[in-house]
Amino acid sequence: MVIGKNLKDIYPNELSTKLINVLKKAHETKSLQVIELPMPGKDRIIYCEGRVLPFEDNKLIAVIRDISQTKAVRDVLYVRNRALEAAGNGIIIADAKLPDNPIIYCNDAFSQITGYNRNEALGKNCRFLQKGDRDQKEIGIIRKAIKEGRPCHEVLRNYKKDGTLFWNELTITPLFNDQGLLTHFIGVQSDVTQRKKAEFLKDQIRKILEMIAQHWPIDFIGNAIVETVEEHLENCLVSILLLDKEKGTLHSLSAPNVPKSLAQALEGLSIGPNICSCSTAAHLKKEIFTADMTKDPLWKSRRNLLMEHNLKSCWSLPILSSSQEVLGVLALYLEHPTNPGKSQREMIEDINFLSSVAIEQNDTRITLQKNRKQLAIYAQELEGQVEERTNELKATVQKLVETNLNLEDQVFVTKAAENRAIASQAMFTAIARNFPKGVIIVFNTDFDIVYIDGGELYRMGLKKTEIEGTNIDDTDIFSEQRIVQIKENIKKTMDGKHLSFEIQFRRRSYSVNTSPLFDDNHKIQWTLFVYNDITKQKEAERKIKSALVREQELNELKSRFISMASHEFRTPLSAILSSAILIGKQNEPGKEAKREKYIGQIKTNVRNLVVILNDFLSLSKLEEGKVTAHKEKFDIVQFSKSLVDEIDSSKKYGQKLTIKHKKPIINVFLDPKLTRHILTNLLSNAIKYSQENKNIYLILDKHQKNLVIKVVDQGIGIPKEEQPNLFQRFFRADNSSIIQGTGLGLHIVKQYAELMGGHVSFKSELDKGSTFIVELPT
Ligand code: ADP
Repeated sequence: MVIGKNLKDIYPNELSTKLINVLKKAHETKSLQVIELPMPGKDRIIYCEGRVLPFEDNKLIAVIRDISQTKAVRDVLYVRNRALEAAGNGIIIADAKLPDNPIIYCNDAFSQITGYNRNEALGKNCRFLQKGDRDQKEIGIIRKAIKEGRPCHEVLRNYKKDGTLFWNELTITPLFNDQGLLTHFIGVQSDVTQRKKAEFLKDQIRKILEMIAQHWPIDFIGNAIVETVEEHLENCLVSILLLDKEKGTLHSLSAPNVPKSLAQALEGLSIGPNICSCSTAAHLKKEIFTADMTKDPLWKSRRNLLMEHNLKSCWSLPILSSSQEVLGVLALYLEHPTNPGKSQREMIEDINFLSSVAIEQNDTRITLQKNRKQLAIYAQELEGQVEERTNELKATVQKLVETNLNLEDQVFVTKAAENRAIASQAMFTAIARNFPKGVIIVFNTDFDIVYIDGGELYRMGLKKTEIEGTNIDDTDIFSEQRIVQIKENIKKTMDGKHLSFEIQFRRRSYSVNTSPLFDDNHKIQWTLFVYNDITKQKEAERKIKSALVREQELNELKSRFISMASHEFRTPLSAILSSAILIGKQNEPGKEAKREKYIGQIKTNVRNLVVILNDFLSLSKLEEGKVTAHKEKFDIVQFSKSLVDEIDSSKKYGQKLTIKHKKPIINVFLDPKLTRHILTNLLSNAIKYSQENKNIYLILDKHQKNLVIKVVDQGIGIPKEEQPNLFQRFFRADNSSIIQGTGLGLHIVKQYAELMGGHVSFKSELDKGSTFIVELPT
């Protein structure tokens, strides 16, 4: 049916084209061409393999066969193969039929994990991965499973081609053929080193934590920490440095593998900048990573040491306490200047934290130990004290017992004393009530005021409750001086004396009587001070005394008056008498002139007597306080002029009386009567005590608001020694005794001047004259 037909007519276009192309190629190349093609079958696509072979000239033999089934198997195998190749796990297949189960297949992942390429692995038993490390229980388990044709799953230590250890998680599955014979083992392996390491690290950290919890010595813990880090970081040497807080220096706690010379060079360094990266890390509380120590200025002085030991980088981490205080430094010396990766960093941070916990706990333990020791010392001291106190207590108890034995007796004694005290108090109160205008105070031997009461207390401004029971020294009622006096009086009274005296207290007068008070045993126990208010009596007494003085003065005045009058009256009276007799004898006419003369003499003498009597009158009025000033305004110049006219007749022969005043009118506000008396008296004296032909001046002036009157004479003057007494009543100077006078004039002048608010003074020189000055406020 197909013979003689073109391929194009048998197969669809696309297929026929492919077939023709193959035929052409076989013809051209004269070589066998193989092609696989899907052919449309009855109910499915048939995969065919066509083999085209050139035959003779221009002839081709094409053999076509159905490879659908073979292809299907091959495809599955291919996929599986690819899957095996693509798998991340290392896969090996070992032949179980051959002796020692050689590896007949391994995938790429196996090579990547182990470092061995396929040729190196094929034909070998898997044990080559264990190198010499055969002493693993997992190996025994695997061996047994293989022997028994059982699957197994174990994690064991294997070694890469370069010798590094890796943890191999291995699953071995036996393969059996259709007859049930063991033909192959399939091993699936994965590198679980990281996981294992992590587990291992966890385990180590747990162990270290246990050591911390069990209070292992800090250097043991330090070593464990260092070992852990060194195990987990390649080419790394670790040291833990502790900070001596007092000195601020770093000291090695653990550095088992750090070269001794380097450890020594770093021992005892102070923390601070510019010393080394450990000191800096502690100083700044900051992690310092020095990638290349040989180039870092901080490590300059130790550069040779580092080179010698092939150490390149240093990673210094401050170990901080929970309160962020520096405890020490964790130093990692690395051979390669590689920055730590994430997992390494995490591990180091964990380790650093662990170190901090361990050191802090150690510090706490040391403090605790110290405290315990101190506590033990305290406890010992306390025990001693307790013993001492116990002994004291025993002694006290003993005393108490003894005291207690006497207590009953004492109670009786006290009761009796109390009764007596009550009786005493009653007695004091009774006394106090009997002195309604006084106060009684009872002092004891210690100067305590044990009792105070009396009607006068209130007036004195004192309160019984505030004073009673206080000591005399603690009261603020009396001055210090008075307290001393009172104490003195108490002491004297305690000696058995009875004192009587008077005191002044808060402007009142009190009579004080003190007496000792005896107890039942006739011993002086208290002193009783009785204060009586005698202010009124004192006042009366004072008045009586002053009345008495006045009386005496009056008596004296009287007697002096009598003696003076008898003397002073005698002359004018005898003059009057003789004048009268002479008048009687000259009564015939023609003798009028003589009579007039005698009458004139009588008049003069009577005037003198009037003056004397006036003085007395003035004096007695003054003494009785009956004279008062009645001021009025007048011109003193005019006033003086008329007075001088009046007095002019009494001048001696040749005497000249002149008034001097700067202003024509000097108005004053004074009592005219008193002023007249003053002027009359002073001018009379000037005339009286000046010789004939002498000048007398009356000078009037006003200084500010004061009237100043000066009476100036050139008379006999006043002896110096007698001048201080000049204003006393009845005083007369020696040099004036032959001149008539009473010694009252100046006394009255002074009193009158003072009544008007002024005063009198004088200057005088014997035989030269006197000046009397009166100053009066106007
Ligand atoms: P009397 O003149 O009556 O004696 P006075 O009291 O007036 O009394 O004077 C008292 C005394 O002062 C006089 O006795 C006299 O010694 C003295 N005396 C007063 N005035 C003068 C005076 N101007 N010159 C000298 N002595 C005087």
